[in-house]
Amino acid sequence: MKKPGLNTICAHVGEVKDEQFKGAVSPMFLSSSYEFLDVEVKRYPRYFNTPNQEYLAKKIAALEHAEAALIFGSGMAAISHMFLSFLEKGDHLVVQNTLYGGTVNFIKEEFPKYGIEYTFTNGYTVADFEAAIQPNTKLIHIETPSNPLLTITDIKAIAKLGKSRSILTSIDNTFASPVNQNPIDLGIDMVMHSATKYFGGHSDICAGAVASSQEHIDRIWNVSKNLGGSLSDMTVWLLERSMKTLGLRVKAQTKNAMKMAKWLNKHPKISKVYYPGLKSHPEHKLAKSQMKGFGAMLSFELIEGLDAYQFQKSLQLIKSSMSLAGVESTVISPHLTSHALLTQEERDKVGISDQLIRFSVGIEDVKDLKRDIDNAIAALT
Ligand code: PLP
Repeated sequence: MKKPGLNTICAHVGEVKDEQFKGAVSPMFLSSSYEFLDVEVKRYPRYFNTPNQEYLAKKIAALEHAEAALIFGSGMAAISHMFLSFLEKGDHLVVQNTLYGGTVNFIKEEFPKYGIEYTFTNGYTVADFEAAIQPNTKLIHIETPSNPLLTITDIKAIAKLGKSRSILTSIDNTFASPVNQNPIDLGIDMVMHSATKYFGGHSDICAGAVASSQEHIDRIWNVSKNLGGSLSDMTVWLLERSMKTLGLRVKAQTKNAMKMAKWLNKHPKISKVYYPGLKSHPEHKLAKSQMKGFGAMLSFELIEGLDAYQFQKSLQLIKSSMSLAGVESTVISPHLTSHALLTQEERDKVGISDQLIRFSVGIEDVKDLKRDIDNAIAALT
């Protein structure tokens, strides 16, 4: 069969066939105990190989154009298990400076305990990554588009840099999702996701995933079975159901985000919009060359004098909510949430102002989102 398209992969790849009753959807296998005599595979939830786990991993691998994948109990489990599978005492990680706060905390708080060294880059150009490489560097990790300022890193150039120095490369592809970006096609070795975000898409699942070659996934599996961060089969089943509409949802959300970014960009009460789909974004051309769509995350700054806290309190439809990527639009203040642990000076250095609002655009009608923002601003003035 010819390679199926995105929505066909979402709807069908990784189904567990119901051989007994011929039901249309995957049955849920809740056993935590399986036959071990005369079987090809010894199955156990923490071995990541129950029927639902094994088959959903095939869908994620297919979406990321990878040979194999593993599903974890959270995005942080995915990233930590991936790092700890390729880094050991005396090894060094080069990691992008603009990054999800939880990943930063994991590196800073846990790596010293394992004797793993790391360098955060000064910026996100290839030269910044090259300058951070040490003789013991084993992995380069990037995040693009990044959280919360939507900076764009050159994926192909980073993959090339890694290959030229025999260093593995990994990416957090959560913001783009495989609908908008396929880093493995651009030469990246490993792709991880917080499946809590677009994969789940309904703000009701916490999960994570890594996709890569079979060889790398085998290595991650070997460590992960010891660390034990597998996902319950009920949630795996729910995630499979959610992922059937991944393509439809993310495309609709991406379309809405483009419209909202253009509108906000002209809004008199908004001083700045960060969205790679805007021609004014400094890496717009790069984003266009490596993304299929510009994603559904954007950030904007309210003009001085408008209180960001009161603005969010005044929104009626758009929820101020910690996570992102659900079908419902949400906003957060990065300085009060994801980047609250940084000092004011550190936030100023990376450009996270108190006026900054991160906007996860959902599937609502754009006219309703615009009206909600206009009304919230009007309530402040
Ligand atoms: N990566 C990114 C870009 C995220 O936004 C998050 C969570 O917000 C994570 C990783 C961690 O995922 P989880 O919360 O599922 O552990």
